[in-house]
Amino acid sequence: MARKFKVAVLPGDGIGPEIMEQALKALDAVGEKFSHEFEATEALFGGIAIDKTGEPLPKETIEICKQSDAILGGAVGGPKWDHVEQNLRPEAGLLALRKQFGLFANLRPVKLYPALIDNSTLKKEVIGGMDIMIVRELTGGIYFGQPKGIMESGTKGINTMVYTVEEVERVAKVAFEIALKRKKKLCSVDKSNVLEVSRLWRNTVEKLAKQFPEVELSHLYVDNAAMQLVRNPRQFDVIVTGNMFGDILSDEASMLSGSLGMLPSAAIGGKIGFFEPVHGSAPDIAGQGKANPCAMVCSVGMMLKYAFDLNEGHKAVDNAVSTALAKGFRCADIAKPGEKTVGTREMGQAILKEI
Ligand code: NAD
Repeated sequence: MARKFKVAVLPGDGIGPEIMEQALKALDAVGEKFSHEFEATEALFGGIAIDKTGEPLPKETIEICKQSDAILGGAVGGPKWDHVEQNLRPEAGLLALRKQFGLFANLRPVKLYPALIDNSTLKKEVIGGMDIMIVRELTGGIYFGQPKGIMESGTKGINTMVYTVEEVERVAKVAFEIALKRKKKLCSVDKSNVLEVSRLWRNTVEKLAKQFPEVELSHLYVDNAAMQLVRNPRQFDVIVTGNMFGDILSDEASMLSGSLGMLPSAAIGGKIGFFEPVHGSAPDIAGQGKANPCAMVCSVGMMLKYAFDLNEGHKAVDNAVSTALAKGFRCADIAKPGEKTVGTREMGQAILKEI
């Protein structure tokens, strides 16, 4: 059945607009293939929004997002705005957007494209077949807990890790539900041997597990989880963890697959989800037509699946990226020395052809 969706498009800074252009072409191609209509409305976000309006997340952008079914983001930030006041920096816009739309669960898939198996620093036999979904809590924990600050005349710094049962339950529920649709294995990561807040985390996840008897639940301390991710990443299906542990583990896991330029993400939990690549605005290569658009295109794939329930569209995008890679198309970030490389547009075109 043909459906219609509204998408707020926030290209952002640096390579954001270049990769977004290719992602929107892929979205249109999916629309054509499956007879759906996607109405994209562009809005200012990040550094470019600071330049034009004085703030990273202008009210008009929030309004456009509110009237949409999903938000697609490029990346924000760059040296030009590094001197801007902390609460007006591009990254502050990102935090404000997550808060505004209640995006408490960050989904980061880490999978290996067979064509890129040699790109990882790990041995083939360790990473072959790896397919992990990390679910990171995004709006609580030590990054937000009070008290925080530098006090006692600059001699003491404090941050506080806080989680409520409700905060743990809602993110764990997302993780259990995702596990149900995958290999039905969930690993909850905490530091409950040392931290009280982690004991609450673990108890809450244990209780919730009774509602998901089909899912096999395990627990790991975060230090062990960091080690297991490089020792034997294939043991994992879905991982759920708090904000800071998830921040660190997902960056570690992202390198298993070879390049930042391949990794999409989703922030969900509210009425509207936010879909963006894991990487930043790559100011060092911005405007040169070199950026790898795959992570951005795969973020469109995640939007199709998690915001619109269009699983066929998601598969079409994922398969297209996989086939383009298998046919030998490589942007500079994923090419081996001496290998022929293509630019952002050619890579986008190669993916489009496969959709
Ligand atoms: P980055 O991810 O932008 O770049 C790190 C390295 O990876 C660079 O060498 C870059 O060229 C390369 N790279 C990243 N994406 C690529 C792609 N698609 N294709 C090819 N190469 C790619 O990280 P950074 O340099 O630490 O940060 C740059 C800016 O981005 C900073 O202002 C930072 O705050 C911001 N940032 C934004 C987000 C976001 O919008 N969600 C996330 C991370 C960083």
